[in-house]
Amino acid sequence: MLFTPEPLAPTLDSARRVLKQYYGYDTFRPMQESIISNIMSGKDTVVLMPTGGGKSVCFQVPAVVQEGVCVVVSPLIALMKDQVEALKANGIPAEYINSSVGQSEQTSIASDCLNGYLKLLYVSPEKLVSPGFLQFLQRLRISMFAIDEAHCISSWGHDFRPEYTQLRVLREQFPQVPIIALTATADRLTQRDIQQQLRMHEPEVFLSSFDRPNLNLIVRPGQNRVGSIVEFVTARPSESGIIYCLSRKQCETLAQKLKEKGVRANHYHAGMTPNQRASVQEGFLRDDLQVIVATIAFGMGIDKSNVRWVIHYNLPKNIEGYYQEIGRGGRDGAPATAILFYSFADVMSLRDMLTKDADPRLSQLSLTKLERMQQFAEAASCRRKILLNYFGETLEKDCGNCDICRNPPTTFDGTELAQKALSAVVRMRERAPIGLLIDVLRGMRNQAILQGGYEQIKTYGAGRDLPYLDWYSYIHQMLNDGLLYIAYEEGYSLKITEVGKLVLQGQRQLPMKKFQPAEKAEKQPRGKKAASAASAPTDAAGQLFERLRQLRKRLADEQNVPPYVIFTDTTLQEMAAERPVSRTAMLAIGGVGMKKFENYGEVFIKAILEFGGAPNPSDAAEDDEDEMPGPAKPRRTREAGDTHETTLQLHRAGLSIDEIAERRNLAASTIRAHIETLYAKGQSIRLDEFLSQGEYAEITTARAQLGGEPQLRDLFDHLREKYDYFKLRLAGLYQKRLKS
Ligand code: ADP
Ligand code: ZN
Repeated sequence: MLFTPEPLAPTLDSARRVLKQYYGYDTFRPMQESIISNIMSGKDTVVLMPTGGGKSVCFQVPAVVQEGVCVVVSPLIALMKDQVEALKANGIPAEYINSSVGQSEQTSIASDCLNGYLKLLYVSPEKLVSPGFLQFLQRLRISMFAIDEAHCISSWGHDFRPEYTQLRVLREQFPQVPIIALTATADRLTQRDIQQQLRMHEPEVFLSSFDRPNLNLIVRPGQNRVGSIVEFVTARPSESGIIYCLSRKQCETLAQKLKEKGVRANHYHAGMTPNQRASVQEGFLRDDLQVIVATIAFGMGIDKSNVRWVIHYNLPKNIEGYYQEIGRGGRDGAPATAILFYSFADVMSLRDMLTKDADPRLSQLSLTKLERMQQFAEAASCRRKILLNYFGETLEKDCGNCDICRNPPTTFDGTELAQKALSAVVRMRERAPIGLLIDVLRGMRNQAILQGGYEQIKTYGAGRDLPYLDWYSYIHQMLNDGLLYIAYEEGYSLKITEVGKLVLQGQRQLPMKKFQPAEKAEKQPRGKKAASAASAPTDAAGQLFERLRQLRKRLADEQNVPPYVIFTDTTLQEMAAERPVSRTAMLAIGGVGMKKFENYGEVFIKAILEFGGAPNPSDAAEDDEDEMPGPAKPRRTREAGDTHETTLQLHRAGLSIDEIAERRNLAASTIRAHIETLYAKGQSIRLDEFLSQGEYAEITTARAQLGGEPQLRDLFDHLREKYDYFKLRLAGLYQKRLKS
């Protein structure tokens, strides 16, 4: 099919049409809309948005709407390839040029650019600034330059790429072309650097919230992490995930353990050849590999949207890195889990590593960052608040989607408990590190204890009644409360502070937070059944999702693309919940644009029909004419599921249909259907928000004029299309309620 853009004046309306037609989404996310308006007015723009926030749409949609070609600078070949594949799958003409593209192909791409056929051209920074290429660009009509991963330009950032600093020539050579810089890094220094180096003219800066509410944040104690990880992963056979480790050795061992349990896992680290790494990455993108066990070298080029969980086997060095890594989970907006295993041993080895830095100033900075990371891991208050706070954002309420919020710690008077530990510290002459202290308190008999003669001290065995992990947690609280500190230079031995002495002498009370074992704190909040429904498909929607997922995988393999290029998990989940069996219903699913419908609509409808068809009475009624040919008439099986319940709750919380749709990442039409079903089931909803008294009167009059039980379509025509089907159906339901 040839790309035939309608002659669109670049307005927000035309941008919305493009979003619907090519991406299959009904509305822009709030920030996207302002960004797109700004770009279309020809201004320089800086976009700071977390991974998964939807940056690509911000420049891709204006690129389609505006005349000329948008030149996108992107640092990684893999990233370019993914983005271009995704654009093509949506029916948007795009190509990339980098060192991996052959000469003859480059020539043909160049001629497509000159003909004005391409809307987006992705290039590597090296290619862009090569002399011949800049000359070639001079011959094109360029709508804008989009600089992706723009933080790479700053040596302050964590991912500096020297090639990026040459991008300053763009402003010199193309003074009229607006520049859009996009990144997921928020820090101020980097942001200023980007603007200066690109010579931007008073750019508008869009800083979106860095909150990722769909990430379920969990911290677990580091004991028996291999066992916990194996258990976690094997319970989720169809969910992709990434495990980050500090060392290559650990990566390999853990990947091996998982393989032995039948998990499709592999390791990934800088010690492998580029070919090996590329093949592991490819396997992961294609869902052939379920799990990647990686060092931090893995991830930047990963555009995979259906990563359902991220595990940190070790404590990350700083919060920036941690946040970026967990950000690779749940980019599609569906629930995802981030688990961090926290052990004090990690803190110690990281400290050792960081203090080796030659520049003492740098090492001081890294140590401070490590401390903040440690505080996060040990926190007893909402984790998301702490994270966002770190990035300069304040969250009004606790998040409700972290282990602490789900299971807030209870407090008790810990004075006596603390006194036992403090007394032991003193009696061991402040020479014992934490592990030894706990062993002494618990009355263990091991070599270290016997050698030090610690079985003789008065507090030996005084804490027998508590398990190791409990003690571990309480001693950490004492460290955090400043009763103890660690002498790193003396074999990490614990020392008592002045405050500690006060508590020991009974001059001060010490409230403590009760230790809770991990599993309890991890349960998903009620009513928020995670995407992990996919792993154990107990309900019908879960089973259908699984079928659609397999269908997607088969199609992806046939076409040699990653599965999420066909549809994202969110799109499949919406299909599984709504079971669209007509063209209209299918196009109302978020993520199904025209091109995707053309390519895949029919096969997916067929799969849904085979499974049992439309659950939603309203679905079939509205457009029975364009129903797809299918085997039997759809059976209507589905009881009111969680999805309706969620909509109801949000509606009751005062959200509009569009807001609910935005929040749930569902189409507004889907939410309208939910509202109808809920109302039909007798739930109380705010009807006047959707239908005024006057409208109701007019619709009922028309119904009376037609007589009997008129078809909705007739009513629609009779009223000259003045009211949409939603209003017509609501009016009907209201009338029924009045009568009964
Ligand atoms: P980023 O580049 O910021 O990491 P992406 O552009 O990859 O984020 O978008 C993340 C996900 O959100 C993608 O699956 C994308 O299709 C989806 N998305 C983007 N904009 C919208 C929108 N307006 N409505 C619904 N989904 C959207
Ligand atoms: Zn929280």
